[in-house]
Amino acid sequence: MSMPKDYKDTLNLPQTPFPMKANLAQKEPDMLRSWDEGKVYEKIQLKNKSNGTYVLHDGPPYANGHIHMGHALNKILKDIIVKVRSMQGFYSPYVPGWDCHGLPIELQVDKNLGDKKEKIDILLKRKLCREYAAKFVDIQREEFRRLGVFGDWLSPYLTMTNAYEGAIVGEFMKFVKGGYVERRKKPVHWCPSCVTALAEAEVEYADKESPSIYVKFRLLDESVKKLDKKFEERGMKVSLSNREVCLVVWTTTPWTLPANLAVAMGAGIDYCLLDTGIEVYIIAKERIRSLEENLSLTGEETGPFPGELLYGTIAAHPFLDRQSKVIMGDEFITATEGTGIVHIAPGHGEDDYKAGLRYGLDIYAPVDDKGRFTREVPEFEGQFVFKANDAIIETLKKRNALLGVEKISHSYPHCWRCKKAVIFRATEQWFISMDKSELRQRCLSEIDKVNWVPSWGRERIYGMVFNRPDWCISRQRSWGVPITVIKCDACGEFVSDHAVLDSIVRLVEANGSDIWFAKQAEDLLPPGYQCKKCGHLSFVKELDILDVWFDSGVSHAAVLEKDERLSWPGDMYLEGSDQHRGWFQSSLIASVGAKNAAPYRTVLTHGFVVDGQGKKMSKSLGNVVAPQDIIKKNGAEILRLWVAAEDYRDDIRISGEIIDRLVEAYRKIRNTARFLLGNLYDYDGRDHSEHLLEIDRWAMSRLQSLVKKVKEAYGEFDFHQVYHSIHNFCILDMSSFYLDILKDRLYTFKADSPERRAGQWVLSQILSVMTRLMAPVLSFTAEEIWGFMPGKKEESVFLSAFPKVDEGLLNRALEARWMTLKGLRDVVNQALELKRAEKFIGNSLEARIILYLEPQYHDSIKQYNDFLATLFIVSQVEIVENIEGTTVPEDAHHGEVGLYDESLVASPGNIKPYAGAAHAVHVVVERASGRKCERCWNWSEAVGSFADTPELCDRCAHTLK
Ligand SMILES: [Zn+2]
Ligand SMILES: [Zn+2]
Ligand SMILES: [Zn+2]
Repeated sequence: MSMPKDYKDTLNLPQTPFPMKANLAQKEPDMLRSWDEGKVYEKIQLKNKSNGTYVLHDGPPYANGHIHMGHALNKILKDIIVKVRSMQGFYSPYVPGWDCHGLPIELQVDKNLGDKKEKIDILLKRKLCREYAAKFVDIQREEFRRLGVFGDWLSPYLTMTNAYEGAIVGEFMKFVKGGYVERRKKPVHWCPSCVTALAEAEVEYADKESPSIYVKFRLLDESVKKLDKKFEERGMKVSLSNREVCLVVWTTTPWTLPANLAVAMGAGIDYCLLDTGIEVYIIAKERIRSLEENLSLTGEETGPFPGELLYGTIAAHPFLDRQSKVIMGDEFITATEGTGIVHIAPGHGEDDYKAGLRYGLDIYAPVDDKGRFTREVPEFEGQFVFKANDAIIETLKKRNALLGVEKISHSYPHCWRCKKAVIFRATEQWFISMDKSELRQRCLSEIDKVNWVPSWGRERIYGMVFNRPDWCISRQRSWGVPITVIKCDACGEFVSDHAVLDSIVRLVEANGSDIWFAKQAEDLLPPGYQCKKCGHLSFVKELDILDVWFDSGVSHAAVLEKDERLSWPGDMYLEGSDQHRGWFQSSLIASVGAKNAAPYRTVLTHGFVVDGQGKKMSKSLGNVVAPQDIIKKNGAEILRLWVAAEDYRDDIRISGEIIDRLVEAYRKIRNTARFLLGNLYDYDGRDHSEHLLEIDRWAMSRLQSLVKKVKEAYGEFDFHQVYHSIHNFCILDMSSFYLDILKDRLYTFKADSPERRAGQWVLSQILSVMTRLMAPVLSFTAEEIWGFMPGKKEESVFLSAFPKVDEGLLNRALEARWMTLKGLRDVVNQALELKRAEKFIGNSLEARIILYLEPQYHDSIKQYNDFLATLFIVSQVEIVENIEGTTVPEDAHHGEVGLYDESLVASPGNIKPYAGAAHAVHVVVERASGRKCERCWNWSEAVGSFADTPELCDRCAHTLK
């Protein structure tokens, strides 16, 4: 069907230079440049400068390597929030940061240095580390900007600047002055491969196979006699004199046995004697059955008796010439596994350590930095602890001290860096005491003042802070901020004058922390400084550096407080859910210790990026999706859409299929915008709202509903709701309904007719609102659309205001009535589809519809009599009121349509599923009468009745007059 050319020229067909094909990957860099050159971010800040603030404080990523999907997810989420707040008028600057010190960088530099790493001067090594970090800050900065993330990229915060390092030392000194900082010998997670202590957050749990052994600790003869007497007092008929009585312990770390100093019984656990005829074993009663089975033990059982009976007895070490005190353990001893009796090595475990402190045991750990036994254990000297397990088991066998051995696989701590199993090892370390001045308790009460999103974050961090050990803040490495304490070389007294401590802070602020390593201890002190205790003149400075989590933990002070762009506390911290253990926690402790309050009002966490099957991404599985690849193929915009479309609270999947689906959704949204632009080419920019038809008022009401819903969703950080609402609006309300119906009016009516202008006014409203609603997510596309939008407007969509709901345009009763009309249209469309399949009609305009309506519809539908042909996009419609006696033709299509009213519109735009009765509608499709108008394709009896334009209908003839 070709249209005569002259009539086609009389139609107002859409025209726009806005391209159908987005070409995101190619065009995004241009957009980035134009934002840059136009100083859009700076102008946003200027515009909102004196308004209320909303500070999202960036958690610093580690300046090492290229960004991965998790980084992209995190930064885009932050960007969405900052852009929404900024468009809502908040002063919401975004100052990105980087964590620059620490082991991973130092290890990389060590690797590059090779053999030279042992001899290199510390200042030179630190310089190399600094350069390495700076290089990756530059790389990551470009990668983050490529995502379309707005921020102060040229003046970020770096934890290695003089100012930041000065702030770290300043905050550390506050903890020193508050008495929180202690040096103690205490077991900490220790990586023998990286040769350093590890923080809680630097430990990962993974399965490991370990030996599981049952060891006999023989009671000394005297202790057996004592025990005998106690049994007698209790009236137990048992005689142990001259018997071998053994406490049976279970352990999965045989290598800690050389450091064994005690054996602990559980309070509240019942124990029994198990007499095999040869030896007598003491085991928790609850465990006897399973041990008889596991260890093939049989014997006579006597008991029960409480563990306290054993307290104060002494056992012989199973293979060393040493005694083991029998002590009482607390809750950490249970009878759910093992034997209910625990071997205690205070230098190799947290519970053991606490028991050691309580019973005055030595905090003994005969293992060196590299995890090898020292000469204190001659039999195993030089052996790596995990390797020594076998030799120790052999020794136990030889000494008849082994009751059983097997292997188990259990969850065991591993180093985050080298992925190797770590050990617990007591070393002299610096700690922040969690219980000094009730620090822990104060942190816990601050947790309850914070808004945790999702809410389970509160339980998670609460439990972690509640249970955490003291914070081990020292590391025996080079690349970091030193622990700035100085002690007297003669008496060991630490320098604690506040004036001196403050002068050290100023020194670092001015020179950076290199100065600590460059100068002698005396030169860091005022000239001629004397030890306050003994008057000595020479001093020793500490060479350990601070845990990097302390560096980032004090960003609340170094950045929020000190940076004039920002303010304390932050409105939001937003990171992956692993940071309950990391940055959220270190920031909380650092802030509560120094300022007695949490540094954040809201903490939002997201899950981790996994592959399409939900599997963790790993190089070995070959399922890693890199953001760089998606940007190159699809554009950063699609990544942004992915971030919004998925529910970030759970783990977030990504795969080729998911991306393809989003590309398709993106195309729908883009095409809707293109249609709107195409029909605004000749819009006069005036307000034509007085001429709106009812369907236009319906569209405007739906638009307000959309604004309301999207605004709420942004407010609740429900970005997938933002995506779904905009997507559904484009497809269901616009493309397949309103815009479809509007075409006839836009194309065939007189260009400046009030009806067409009213339609254009609606389109311009929708375009402007939709573009601003999507801008925080689809930033590149929104800005592109904005550039093509006719009329007066801000130079960037981000300088415009976030849309507000116009309550006057919301009309629930109208939306409800139109639900019924849409339902009716669906039934008619089904009927037309069937007839089209039968080749009875081609274009729907060739049809005439006869509707048989039940009486319930008469009032609600009949009033639209003149509009129904437009609604169905057919040429003619006839309504037959279905009263008693009416016969519905046999070939009618039957459907049901719900009757909606205002009460069914729960909230604006949110229509409850139809709950009332639906009624039958019968549709007959006939061929339209008359002839086809060559201009508008409507069929009409009037075609042919105008002498000068015989090919036209009356409407077109009139239009062209
Ligand atoms: Zn390691
Ligand atoms: Zn002294
Ligand atoms: Zn016509």
